[in-house]
Amino acid sequence: MKKRKVGIMGGSFDPIHLGHLVVANEVLNIYNLDEIIFVPTGNPPHKDKLRADSFHRYMMVYMAVLSNDKFSVSDFEIRKNDKSYTVNTLKHFRQLYEDTDLYFITGADAIIELPHWHEAAEVIKLCKLVAVSRPGISMKEARQRIDEIENILGGTIEMLQVPMLQISSTDIRGRFEKGISAKYLLPESVEQYIMKNKLYKS
Ligand code: NAP
Repeated sequence: MKKRKVGIMGGSFDPIHLGHLVVANEVLNIYNLDEIIFVPTGNPPHKDKLRADSFHRYMMVYMAVLSNDKFSVSDFEIRKNDKSYTVNTLKHFRQLYEDTDLYFITGADAIIELPHWHEAAEVIKLCKLVAVSRPGISMKEARQRIDEIENILGGTIEMLQVPMLQISSTDIRGRFEKGISAKYLLPESVEQYIMKNKLYKS
């Protein structure tokens, strides 16, 4: 029987935008995944505070993935009060999905910091890591760094150049802060949710 393949899309999603959705769809097609679960970070170990609280970030992802039956969102990390370590998230999904290949997908700029993650060697054993190109990140430099990481930790990390949508959550937050339109950069439902809840007003 064909082994199932499940993608775990990790990130702050502060807020989720069309770049994330395009990436997820590309990864789904390229690796022939059965589904992708978006996992918004709860309490990231390496950051002081995210702009929108975890409930709002979860709700925005929920609305953004609603129309795709291969996408879903998990509240696993946001339900916890302690730090969100990817290794724990992967162990959780490994238990839920036996005999399944897990693909952890996130930005290349996050993956190049992998040696500083909690139990990094275990992370690389539990899944296939997919580092996705991000605006402003040189894929050549990221590849060099990732080669070094593979030498230190073992395992392989896939690098993926997706259509370079020049969209970033930082830019979108800035637009809401300044009152500049972010139309067409994120799903309309998410845009309306941000405005209704005045999420990124300074
Ligand atoms: P982040 O701040 O949300 O994202 C870092 C970069 O990656 C940004 O350029 C971001 O772009 C992009 N990005 C985020 N999620 C993406 C996705 N799924 N696909 C493509 N690009 C994405 O995230 P982070 O806090 O660095 O963490 C990323 C993931 O790594 C999270 O799941 C986090 O839990 C995990 N992580 C774990 C540890 C640990 O276990 N110790 C440490 C660090 C990170 P946008 O700003 O446009 O989203």
